[in-house]
Amino acid sequence: MSKVLVIGAGGVSTAAVHKMAENSDVFKEIIIASRTKSKCDAIAAALPDANIKTAQIDADNVPEMVKLINEVKPNLVVNLALPYQDLPIMDACLETGISYLDTANYEPIDEAKYEYSWQWAYQDRYKEKGITAILGCGFDPGVTSIFVAHAVKHHFSEIHYLDIVDCNAGDHGKAFATNFNPEINIREVTQPGKYWENGKWIETAPHEIHQPITYPNIGPKESYLIYHEELESLVKNYPTLKRARFWMTFGQEYLTHLRVIQNIGMAGIEPIMYEGKEIVPIQFLKAVLPNPGDLGENYKGWTSIGCRIKGLDKQGKEKTYYIYNNCSHEVAFKETGTQGVSYTTGVPAMIGAAMYLKNLWKKPGVFNVEEFDPDPFMAELGKWGLPWVELHDVDLEL
Ligand code: NDP
Repeated sequence: MSKVLVIGAGGVSTAAVHKMAENSDVFKEIIIASRTKSKCDAIAAALPDANIKTAQIDADNVPEMVKLINEVKPNLVVNLALPYQDLPIMDACLETGISYLDTANYEPIDEAKYEYSWQWAYQDRYKEKGITAILGCGFDPGVTSIFVAHAVKHHFSEIHYLDIVDCNAGDHGKAFATNFNPEINIREVTQPGKYWENGKWIETAPHEIHQPITYPNIGPKESYLIYHEELESLVKNYPTLKRARFWMTFGQEYLTHLRVIQNIGMAGIEPIMYEGKEIVPIQFLKAVLPNPGDLGENYKGWTSIGCRIKGLDKQGKEKTYYIYNNCSHEVAFKETGTQGVSYTTGVPAMIGAAMYLKNLWKKPGVFNVEEFDPDPFMAELGKWGLPWVELHDVDLEL
């Protein structure tokens, strides 16, 4: 009998808990705990047949988290709160001896910088305690890295060039909105670009490098080179990579809004004084922007995320390969009440948790998802709503 403690009650949590409830052979009992308990209750109310309990928690508070974990006694803690909570939740898991899974790497609240060093630093302590940390088990990071592991296991002897291509061709009908937590999203996409080439990181100005890329069943979309966290673990785990890049589509309207937001200082992460009260501009902005979890109802169109890889096949011959998933916002909403971006993150988080609970991805230490066997995960992905397509020896455009 498996019991999970899910932290956070936003869009990703809503999608993941829906899928956990559907997969009740594995997830017998689900406890959702978050800062605002009413949001946990709303998720539970939408799933009346599932065995779900809810609780209030400030996950930044390690002793409170330890108390909650000791009360609940879960088999796994699934962190679907924000990247700021990764370390306190990892600390609480370490203290209580419970394994951990998340979908985004740690980011300090006062510095828009994300890297794995903070979480990788737990490696020895998790190993000694005999517990597992599964890092970055959403879509990107998450499925994209598992796609790479699958490609290496089944099709390549060496991979040399990797381009992760992420297209959201959906339309939510709003002038400006972000698809997941606005604060985290805006911090991510306004960063300088960065990619790996010939053994070193090359930095670019934000959105400096862009070109049209053709996405299956969508067509060409202007795509921008940005830094994305899975590049860090992939170049470490696949040292044959000569180049690794990440591309994301943005519409002109989105970029114009983003530029204005930055130019007027609303993307700032430093606190400012407003009417005698300290506020952080980007947190205030989040409060006035549409809630990503509420975009689903009118969202039309598709996401398409995949990996384009060039290298040597098992016989040592040059090979190109493209593996991707297309996900419909409308289907995602119908199924879980969330839009495609929450869905494509929540489904892999549920499958990753199931991999641990079924003892398929269980080893002591801290791991990125590509360090586990991709086969059982890939076998589940289509079944739970994210079918994947492979194209061999095609023009990769990049
Ligand atoms: P939301 O903002 O919708 O949800 C975050 C939830 O965490 C909210 O319920 C929030 O509470 C809760 N929370 C925040 N701080 C705390 C705290 N201190 N203690 C307890 N709960 C807290 O975000 P999303 O659902 O869009 O995203 C969730 C995570 O998924 C993020 O880390 C994001 O980076 C990641 N992500 C990963 C992707 C991937 O492909 N790998 C893609 C998209 C997102 P409250 O309701 O009170 O605000």
